[in-house]
Amino acid sequence: MRNHPTNRPFSLCAQRRSPAAPEHHGRCLALVALALISLALPSAASARRTPWAKVDGPSAQTPAAIGGYAGGCLAGAEALPERGEGFETIRRWRKRYYGHPRLIAFLRWYGAEVLRETGKAVLVGDLSQARGGLMASGHRSHQLGLDADLWFTRPKQRKRDAHFKSCVDRERDTVDPRVFGERQLALLKIAAAHPDVARIFVHWAIKHHLCASVGADRGWLRKIRPWWGHDRHFHVRLRCPEDSPDCRDQAPLPPGDGCGTETWFSAAEVAARKAAARKSPPAKRPPRKRRPPPPKRCKQVLTARPRR
Ligand SMILES: [Zn+2]
Repeated sequence: MRNHPTNRPFSLCAQRRSPAAPEHHGRCLALVALALISLALPSAASARRTPWAKVDGPSAQTPAAIGGYAGGCLAGAEALPERGEGFETIRRWRKRYYGHPRLIAFLRWYGAEVLRETGKAVLVGDLSQARGGLMASGHRSHQLGLDADLWFTRPKQRKRDAHFKSCVDRERDTVDPRVFGERQLALLKIAAAHPDVARIFVHWAIKHHLCASVGADRGWLRKIRPWWGHDRHFHVRLRCPEDSPDCRDQAPLPPGDGCGTETWFSAAEVAARKAAARKSPPAKRPPRKRRPPPPKRCKQVLTARPRR
């Protein structure tokens, strides 16, 4: 699938929707507008032209994440091996298994923890390209080597990608209890416990479910952010590492567990908003925002010698 190789055709999870983490219900209309702008995909032609997809290996540079999550690059990347203690990677042919060393260290830690706590390994999907940057298809973010897609599905359940089951019952806008259970909850909770993790994006119905079902120990829910898609996999984002002064973090998370503001993502509310907009259409659409280009330093990353 052109838009989201990780999830379509079996999910609406378009990571091009570049999780920018909506945080407040009060801002919801503005955020919907923003989200729609951020949905503006690069044209197929411009996506194919991205030079970042053609680079073969990491640069021979000191590791650094440079720029923003949806507009930057990665110097001195490290590759995640095909498998390790508690993790297995998929879709190696896409060569999106590179990350900042902090992400690779996190994934090694995470695999071991998941195995210890749940007795089963975790499936790891896309990280970043060898030098980060915009991908020719799929994600808008994943440009700094600090984002990773992790699957709710266990390795042994996987036959083909199309068999990955959604954790969300889309008819009812609720979590499907046959697919989302203790293990899936543990996967999220373990990731949220790591100090390097800034945010974890999940389908809004999953966040809603966690808000309703998690008991007294709720501090970790703060990092779980509702977004579209993300019903078969979840997206873990690390904060900028100290060795990367040119890395731009997102705004800090608002206080609290982020519960009670998720329904604006629901199909019913989206339909209601569309109906309201049809009744009183805005006079003129605002012009689409162009994303700023990646920082100048990224040019050096693109043309640097490859690491031997
Ligand atoms: Zn992702």
